[in-house]
Amino acid sequence: MAASSHPAPAGGGIPLVLFDIDGTLLHTTGAGVKALKRMFFAEFDCPDPFADYSFSGRTDPGILRDAFQRCFGRDPTDAERDRAVASYLAFLDEELSRSDVKVLPGVLPLLEHLAEAGIPTGLATGNVEEGARLKLSAAGILHYFKFGGFGSDAEHRGELTRTGIARGRALAGHVPDERVVIVGDSPLDVAAARYAGVRCLAVMTGWTPREEMEAAGPDLLLDDLADLEAVIRFICAD
Ligand SMILES: [Mg+2]
Repeated sequence: MAASSHPAPAGGGIPLVLFDIDGTLLHTTGAGVKALKRMFFAEFDCPDPFADYSFSGRTDPGILRDAFQRCFGRDPTDAERDRAVASYLAFLDEELSRSDVKVLPGVLPLLEHLAEAGIPTGLATGNVEEGARLKLSAAGILHYFKFGGFGSDAEHRGELTRTGIARGRALAGHVPDERVVIVGDSPLDVAAARYAGVRCLAVMTGWTPREEMEAAGPDLLLDDLADLEAVIRFICAD
């Protein structure tokens, strides 16, 4: 990470922050779902396995498994999984190039602040790593992220979150659990943070009704990331 012009926060040491992508950092305005649907039709002749399906907080391998169960009543083989991911990434690249990817409120100032403060910033996302790269690149924010846990690491969101945290610690040195923050938009992000034993900041910029987010019990729930002072206060809390 580049040398910082801002001092690290005082107190209990540097925090580690890991962001979910869809509904937290950005909206692909349908590109991700379109790419999945096109892939299933092109590769597996299944026109729409996603009727009444909630993608929010789900991992790519979990979505693939669910879609295979819906289409064929079984899990994909390893070869089918590889073929599905390769095809999905090609469609995703194409769909992103013609979609209006929206960076959510407060995200850019927050990422800029974290970079200037030298706070290690990564990802905890159900996207496979290359899919995450394509989405963040389309949004122009890929360069802010130095590490992550991805859907290509584990189907279980809690496990990929642990992997992301371990990679962050490999870069930043030891950061105690209470100084690690997961930022997400779904109850599954909150559950993953709990699984990993770290804190969770949740935002209402995804697809989950407020009462469900409150019931999930994040440490802090905000409408979005626009209140930079409140977000930084939470991230840097001792
Ligand atoms: Mg999300």
